[in-house]
Amino acid sequence: MRLNPASLLGGWQELNAAATIPHCVANVERTGTIANLRRLAEAGQDGPEGTFQGPWFADSDLYKTLEAIGWEAGRSGTERWAGLLSEVAGLLEQVQAPDGYLNTYVQGTPDKVPFSNPEYTHELYCAGHLMQAAVALHRGSGDERFLAVARRFGDLVVREFGEDGEPVIDGHPEVETALVELYRETGEESYLRAAELQVERRGHRTLAGGRFGAQYYQDHLPVREATEAIGHSVRQLYLAAGVTDLYLENGDESLLRAMEQLWDSAFGTKMYVIGGHGSRHRDESYGDPYELPPDRAYAETCASIAALQWCWRMLLATGQARYAEEMERALLNAIAASMDHSGTAFFYSNPLQLRTGHDGSSEDAPSERLPWYGCACCPPNLARLLASLHGYAATADAAGLQVHLLTPGTFAGESLTAVVETGYPWDGDVLVTVTGRGELAVRVPSWAEGATLDVTGGQVLAGPVPGDYLRVTCADGATVRLTLPMTPRLVRADERADAVRGCVAVMRGPLVHCVEQADLPEGVLVEQLRLDPAAPIAEERGQDAVTPVRLRLSGVVRPLGQELYGTYDPAPRTGTPVTFTAIPYHAWANRGPGAMRVWLPLA
Ligand SMILES: [Zn+2]
Repeated sequence: MRLNPASLLGGWQELNAAATIPHCVANVERTGTIANLRRLAEAGQDGPEGTFQGPWFADSDLYKTLEAIGWEAGRSGTERWAGLLSEVAGLLEQVQAPDGYLNTYVQGTPDKVPFSNPEYTHELYCAGHLMQAAVALHRGSGDERFLAVARRFGDLVVREFGEDGEPVIDGHPEVETALVELYRETGEESYLRAAELQVERRGHRTLAGGRFGAQYYQDHLPVREATEAIGHSVRQLYLAAGVTDLYLENGDESLLRAMEQLWDSAFGTKMYVIGGHGSRHRDESYGDPYELPPDRAYAETCASIAALQWCWRMLLATGQARYAEEMERALLNAIAASMDHSGTAFFYSNPLQLRTGHDGSSEDAPSERLPWYGCACCPPNLARLLASLHGYAATADAAGLQVHLLTPGTFAGESLTAVVETGYPWDGDVLVTVTGRGELAVRVPSWAEGATLDVTGGQVLAGPVPGDYLRVTCADGATVRLTLPMTPRLVRADERADAVRGCVAVMRGPLVHCVEQADLPEGVLVEQLRLDPAAPIAEERGQDAVTPVRLRLSGVVRPLGQELYGTYDPAPRTGTPVTFTAIPYHAWANRGPGAMRVWLPLA
């Protein structure tokens, strides 16, 4: 599977390789994450000198960066980081204890005992990222050294927390999906059983609740009963990905049924229109159903990445288009917005509204993207996702090929290869040319009412139904042309999403749009705009390469009131007619700090 580097998604992969991965490497070096390993490797009889640097889970930032390098090596064949990989592999081999244990925070901090505080220390979380890095490096470049280190830790988990071991689970899920991946890579079944035990042991309140409570770690109910998305959103979504991975290997239908209910809760009542998850800044957690304030949205970048990863597994489990559609929503909106156009500055939280006068001094809600964070989970997470993005675009099986992300590229199955040419998401024309023969499936988005299909050299098994896959039996040389309606549309939220009641969001294709202060006439504030829902929406093309299609909206400008509260006046309010530009949400905050909103009140 290969993305065209000149496309939107393929271009992000190129930017990731050229800018984001090097930026992550420089920052894990700068912040002492690699130095934590060197310090332990160089320790003498009296123990290491100096102190551990960074947050207690800092190892995971290094491992995610290594995972990105592994996928990138597999994608492009680059050996740019061979020196770094060699050095870090040597350090890990030196620092890893004889029993397989490895964690620079616990090993490098006096009086810390392995696995004695699983609520907080993230030891299995870090081990999970080590395993995923090792799998990526093994698949990407055949590297055996990291895999050997990861296996030694995996074997430790099997011994310590296996069938007859201690019933320890980690406060931060992640090792579940990693152990399944390690099993897939090595064929060692004890890793799969260890993942199963991690999943089965969660939800029995074995973690001390502390100030967060059991729900924070999803330890309040067993996974088959915990059908409401709750607690820390990244933990919830990583856990769900791990449970779904387990189902994919052991076929336990009760796990899939629970995941389907959990998915309906997360994506049906608690997701932002940009594909963000977790509305509460406090505890980085999910809120109540429909508690989706646009200005106070937390919507951590890692949560959208985790949501995409979970949807991918649900797609593999069921083949249903809705999971691929939510992957696309997260990818093209929340995830895309989290990185700037240089690939070296990032949002941690992703609000849907920034007010005039926003106080951006708080680290987790800045007005602009930052180069790095004290808690730096998001940037390397983005790097590993982008480096592996081509792997999410299509799948293949004995029958043929299934295209999930509509993006230019070359996708090879067992019996046929498809070359996809399209300007999507800017244009709705998708041309697929097939060599070989077999069944081609292409996802038709749920909003694409009126999509048309033109096939030569193939037989249509299923036409373009919105929210499903079109299916064509293709002969060698067949062409399949799908044309999607890209007319801009207004989207409303459920009545119960009070914070945006009376507002609409503007979408064109899969892209959510927003209005930025930088595009408004002199003297008009974002807060004064009201959208006329009956007015046609015009397209502006060719303004710049980053946002080749912008939208021209019509409405009115209302004068701002003088008092915070006053007597309600039932008379219709008027305003001055105005037209204004909306840009794709993912391009916001690239022109300096300024007010922005996705949800627009109606005139
Ligand atoms: Zn994060």
